[in-house]
Amino acid sequence: MSKPKSSTSFYTPETVSCNNETFKLLLSHEEINNRISELGAAIDEDYRDKKPILIGILNGAFIFLSDLMRHITIPCEVDFYKLSSYGDAKVSSGNVKQRKDIDADITGRHIIIVEDIVDTGLSANYIMNIVEQKNPASVEIVTLLKKPEALKYHVDVKYVGFEIPTLFVLGYGLDYAQEGRNLAQIYVLDEKAAKNS
Ligand code: 5GP
Repeated sequence: MSKPKSSTSFYTPETVSCNNETFKLLLSHEEINNRISELGAAIDEDYRDKKPILIGILNGAFIFLSDLMRHITIPCEVDFYKLSSYGDAKVSSGNVKQRKDIDADITGRHIIIVEDIVDTGLSANYIMNIVEQKNPASVEIVTLLKKPEALKYHVDVKYVGFEIPTLFVLGYGLDYAQEGRNLAQIYVLDEKAAKNS
């Protein structure tokens, strides 16, 4: 019988092709894992005895959320909010739509919104307003990625995994026209390959 695969034996190529575009490695599985471990430790420290509810923003945040939760050792709960803004394109549509509301009663609770990426800040700003209307005890945002130069809407993000340039990224939950979410690492559109093709 073959040996079971270890959790580190993910598919980790240097470049990938997705919907006829080439993407190159930006953040390795190891870099992502190490940084999420630090974020988990910071949340452990800040939320001791507060039993926070992590609210994952679907679809993009589902992989980050599941890894982040396993790096948090204090009691915590989870719920999801579904939002769409990008459609199938590589630039934000500038519109957000609620697809699924939060199910949990968050009144008086400590909320951590879990985002995959803060780009213009529109989605984070929108979800922050929705959550604040439900009278939680506190709300903070954790995002794996942030594009500081793309920010157009005011949003305070307490925990940031990585700041990245304003480029289109793929993998680790982030898609291009619904594909590529299953990649274990984060890739960036290879502009050179796009020009030469
Ligand atoms: P914002 O509302 O901040 O402009 O964008 C947030 C959402 O747009 C993210 O949750 C994500 O779904 C999508 N998004 C922003 N930048 C990227 C990117 O570089 N790649 C992918 N795949 N999605 C992105």
